[in-house]
Amino acid sequence: MALSEIVIVGAGQAGLQTAASLRQFGYEGRIRLVGEEKGLPYQRPPLSKAFLKADSDPESLALRNRDFFEKQKIELLDGERVASIDRQAGAVELASGGRLDYDRLVLATGARNRALPVPGGDHPDLLELRSLDHALAVRDRLGSAGSIAIVGGGYIGLEIAATARGRGLDVTVVEAMDRLMPRTASPALSAHVEGVHRGHGVGLRLGEGVARIATDGEGRIAGVETAAGGLIAAELVLVGIGILPNDALAAAAGLETDNGIVVDSCLRTADPSIFALGDCAAFPAPDFGGGALPGRIRLESVQNAVDQAKCVARNILAEPAPYSEVPWFWSDQFDMKIQIAGLTAGSDRQIARLDEEKGRLTVYCFRDGHLAGVETVSNPGDHMACRRLMAERLSPQPAEVEAAGFSLKTWLQAMRGRAGGG
Ligand code: ADP
Repeated sequence: MALSEIVIVGAGQAGLQTAASLRQFGYEGRIRLVGEEKGLPYQRPPLSKAFLKADSDPESLALRNRDFFEKQKIELLDGERVASIDRQAGAVELASGGRLDYDRLVLATGARNRALPVPGGDHPDLLELRSLDHALAVRDRLGSAGSIAIVGGGYIGLEIAATARGRGLDVTVVEAMDRLMPRTASPALSAHVEGVHRGHGVGLRLGEGVARIATDGEGRIAGVETAAGGLIAAELVLVGIGILPNDALAAAAGLETDNGIVVDSCLRTADPSIFALGDCAAFPAPDFGGGALPGRIRLESVQNAVDQAKCVARNILAEPAPYSEVPWFWSDQFDMKIQIAGLTAGSDRQIARLDEEKGRLTVYCFRDGHLAGVETVSNPGDHMACRRLMAERLSPQPAEVEAAGFSLKTWLQAMRGRAGGG
């Protein structure tokens, strides 16, 4: 039976791209895109970067304009929340009371910020960053304050630290682990980024947990108190301690969740009419030639949202095929362009190449002797070469990488030449 009703829950990058790709691949039935936030779907990456620096217009962040939705016949139900899924009937119920029937349902529900589980962690003046409204509040407060304490030394915390420092504030980052970006970065990348932040005068308190939010006699935020008992005085406190997948809607409908909505390699849940993708989806890691990482992974990036959306749209309309794109990610901090390609988290050996003068770093991350990914700072050539060779399931040997003058780009060209020449 031809499909005629597709409902997409979540109007972020993943949800919108699914709708756009369905049209691109020839689907002519109804598409309803339901999003909790009011307004057009927007880009999130700039929210913690360029958007905080200047008075740019929020509308400049829109992923597509109104015309696009009209022309493509994508019905955007913004400011609407899906309250439940009735799998038996094939329908979702809206919090506002409506009901939408579906032949296929796509869950692109994203993630929410983790709350700081300490006294004062629910103070209404604590800043955080996820939505456009958050970014507008942070931008506004950065303009009128002299100091900020940032809880969490992950990408969000560090991007905001760089911007706040650039705007002249005193900045202190408090990170519970003993290095920056401990969840995702290699020690070599952490150390390099630490040096650059310190060089710009960012105060870094590593290996220190936050015990409570400090307030003055009138209950206003005065800084954070560390577990060791010290006070870091600051006018503003921003919490950036990671995110949690929005998987409660799926769980309530009886779908399996495990740090995200569990899907198979084709991004399908156990219910053949329901797919999940993006920040909220836990999927089997693809094998890039060195054996797949065990278990499931969840990736929080634009690349993952966009590429999984294309995969879901294709899998809804045609014979399902596994998701197998090379993951990549970027972060801008001060004058560093940090780029990560591949799945570096499970690596067991790292070879770092630093060009101190140019501020360029490449960290080759191997797992079981196979290249798992590459982290670069201001070295886009190596980043692109890594993406290409991983897509082709190629890998240099660690010994080749260690040789003086090794270049990933040259290596890739040589491999291609060899393949082309038979
Ligand atoms: P993101 O990249 O979105 O910023 P991450 O999860 O990579 O998210 O980073 C969040 C960081 O916050 C982690 O490095 C984690 O160790 C740190 N963190 C978590 N809880 C606390 C805490 N209570 N005090 C200080 N740092 C914390």
